Amino acid sequence: MKWLLLGILIATFTYICLLNINRKTYTPKPRLVKRLPPPRKAMTIVPFGILIKKDEDSEIIRKHEACHWAQYQELGLLRFYAKYFSQYIKNGYRDNELEEECYLAEND
Ligand SMILES: [Zn+2]
Repeated sequence: MKWLLLGILIATFTYICLLNINRKTYTPKPRLVKRLPPPRKAMTIVPFGILIKKDEDSEIIRKHEACHWAQYQELGLLRFYAKYFSQYIKNGYRDNELEEECYLAEND
């Protein structure tokens, strides 16, 4: 049993590393979903993809999430999450530098 779990863990880790290596060339198509944890309208879950709530889908939301993906492409997986969460702890959600950049990108 523990070998199976170890195998699953190694496979998942390898999969995430491969996605991260290919991040510069891979841009996901947003996936429309019925529900997200409130109050979220959309989520960029790097390195997997972008989720957008079906009834909230808009050009503005797509620009915002594409901006987060571009941040991840530039920073890489570990630096993206490290920066996101350190900013989140320091400044909260809205004044998070990464969020501010994407709120500005909505108007481009
Ligand atoms: Zn955001």
